[in-house]
Amino acid sequence: MEERIGQCIYCGQNIQVRVPEGSTKEEINREAVRLCNCYEAQCQQAIETNINVTEKYIESEFQEENVVRNLLLAAVEPVGRGYIDKIVLHEGRNKYTMSRTSKKTIKVEKNTTIKKVKES
Ligand SMILES: [Zn+2]
Repeated sequence: MEERIGQCIYCGQNIQVRVPEGSTKEEINREAVRLCNCYEAQCQQAIETNINVTEKYIESEFQEENVVRNLLLAAVEPVGRGYIDKIVLHEGRNKYTMSRTSKKTIKVEKNTTIKKVKES
């Protein structure tokens, strides 16, 4: 690790950061955004947190569901950053939905259809 000066890409403030040696300017600036207190940087920090929390949730909640888990994990970042509004996966009786809410949080839903039929 080494001390470098990064620049918040939102407010332009110079911030001292600790990054792995040989980090690129982009990585150094990303670390500066992570530490900056400006409004835009804080919104960005909240998005990062939501992405990390959602990834951990999917990894633990859908451990046994390999294919679904990997597809959901691939979509967390695009949904969290607002590039995609919503994804829907249908798998047998299960329907998985991941979407970005109006509060800019990420919502993951699993619906399982259980049907009971009796015919006499
Ligand atoms: Zn800033």
